[in-house]
Amino acid sequence: MQVETLILGAGAAGMMAAAHAGPGVLVVDHAKAPGEKIRISGGGRCNFTNMHCDAQAFLGGNPHFHKSALARYTQWDFLDLVGQHGIAWHEKTLGQLFCDDKATQIVAMLRAQMDKAGAALWLKTEVKGLRHADGLFHVALDREGRRESVVARNLVVATGGKSIPKMGATGLAYDIARQFDHAVTETRPALVPLTFDNARFASISGVSLPVRAFVPGASFDEALLFTHRGLSGPAILQISSYWREGEEIGLDLLPGLDLAAHLKAARSGNGRRALTTELGAVLPARLVGLLGADMDLTGNLADLSDKRIAALAETLKDWRQKPSGSEGYRTAEVTLGGVATDKVSSSSMMSQQVAGLYFIGEALDVTGWLGGYNFQWAWSSAVAAGRNIANG
Ligand code: FAD
Repeated sequence: MQVETLILGAGAAGMMAAAHAGPGVLVVDHAKAPGEKIRISGGGRCNFTNMHCDAQAFLGGNPHFHKSALARYTQWDFLDLVGQHGIAWHEKTLGQLFCDDKATQIVAMLRAQMDKAGAALWLKTEVKGLRHADGLFHVALDREGRRESVVARNLVVATGGKSIPKMGATGLAYDIARQFDHAVTETRPALVPLTFDNARFASISGVSLPVRAFVPGASFDEALLFTHRGLSGPAILQISSYWREGEEIGLDLLPGLDLAAHLKAARSGNGRRALTTELGAVLPARLVGLLGADMDLTGNLADLSDKRIAALAETLKDWRQKPSGSEGYRTAEVTLGGVATDKVSSSSMMSQQVAGLYFIGEALDVTGWLGGYNFQWAWSSAVAAGRNIANG
């Protein structure tokens, strides 16, 4: 069978590319259904984009690569499409846009866009072999137990990264990149909970509070959640993309509060109050209990010297923790790193090594912050490739 364009992967990027790539498109995926990650994303409501889609919200080997595609298909373009399909949405926080109802509305919207463009979809289809000859891609497929051979002028690799293997994530994009002499940067789980040995926080599992999480060069003001295995919540998922094994993370447990000034004022106004009671007014009481096991929180406010107040404020506003690891690809929302962007066109996503070969979405070495940025990258990179193909 001969097609104009074969798209590998019917996830966010693959479906979006299929809707823009013109006639003669076939999309294949080994999963039973398209857009499975969209379906489970954002707690089932899909955080499909972010109103503040700045270039600084993306990590990658080339800090400029993503700018062109994001500027040419923006969050407002996607929002327009969502509006055309009558999907109700709301801003949750920090510019994050979610469906009011359910994430499957986004999957249905992309399927409708694919149908409108005349793109075909083969599910339960595995890639068994790939070669490039005479300017064409020859792909051997296994479609529900039957051998199929597809010849395509364009090949779009949209098989994503390695996160959540249980949902069908594979390293196929990286294998194809290497086959065509593209480098693959080091990959690691990102937007992932961090773990600690010795069940360090198990006793306060479920406690949550707003913090500033930081490492050199990055900081995030969001919620922290203590878990049986360690630390999670948006602040930790965000900082995990910047953290490396063996390093510490810093936590300001009271962002926006000058704790030293607060304690001094409380000491003058209510000196007989216990320090733990005062801390319990600004921090979750169970966390104060855990902190008390590591540092001296005994006595009343009147007993506190200025020096002890300063030391306490410094500790709680720069609470250093050294994770032993992360929960890994099992729960990571994305893969950091991927197909190196140095030999990929930033305007079309086409390989500079092989005409007609495209890499889009999470497969590339472009990773967004938590908050709808990763889907926006999938939409924008897919449209860049699709339009380039459609324009011949
Ligand atoms: P994917 O959506 O992963 O699609 C890849 C497709 O390729 C899949 O359908 C897969 O079955 C197929 N495939 C893989 N290997 C093969 C193979 N060997 N053969 C055939 N097919 C193959 N991002 C946000 O912006 N907002 C969110 O709310 C959000 N929530 C998330 C929640 C969870 C739990 C997870 C895991 C991720 C979340 N993300 C979110 C990240 C987002 O889902 C991804 O960045 C995005 O799906 C990447 O799109 P993609 O098309 O590149 O890859």
